[in-house]
Amino acid sequence: MKALVLMMAAATFAVSANHGSHDHHDSAGHAAHEHGHGQLNLVLDSNLLLLELSAPAADLIGFEHAPKNDDEKARMAQAMARLKQAETLFVLAPGAGCTLAQQEIKAGHDEHDHDDDHHHDEADDHADVAASYSFTCTQPDALKGMRVNLFSHYPSLSKLTVQGLIPGGQLAGELTPSNPTLEW
Ligand SMILES: [Zn+2]
Repeated sequence: MKALVLMMAAATFAVSANHGSHDHHDSAGHAAHEHGHGQLNLVLDSNLLLLELSAPAADLIGFEHAPKNDDEKARMAQAMARLKQAETLFVLAPGAGCTLAQQEIKAGHDEHDHDDDHHHDEADDHADVAASYSFTCTQPDALKGMRVNLFSHYPSLSKLTVQGLIPGGQLAGELTPSNPTLEW
């Protein structure tokens, strides 16, 4: 399971490295960040389904700076609470018997690694939200896809790039508000 996650990370990195290889100037090391565009990584490995969502805070929270006042703190808390309702965001075939085992939601500004030696550019106020969910499924063979409800919850989100590892091989695609269903 850990090996699969690492492979996913490597694959994602290779894609973004290719994509941005001609223009590293000011924001070296930052993943591409385009408002309205999120990323969904998926791993289905025997009875474990892992989903990793990453999208601009502008789309999932409504702003990207650290919350400045009570109103923004409340909006942030509300956004975090909504992201914890995995079953409303991802619709899995009931016959697959999937239940949420673990989840982790991280907003870009709430913590930094202090042991890295990269210089943080304070002028860069973009922030992503990363959410990961792991499900255990009693009948994973019955899981042949899923509907992603993110677009109805987050109207500014217009595209999700999907990469996945499933028992039959790799999965890649793009979901949009008019095509929110993944099949494999
Ligand atoms: Zn941004």
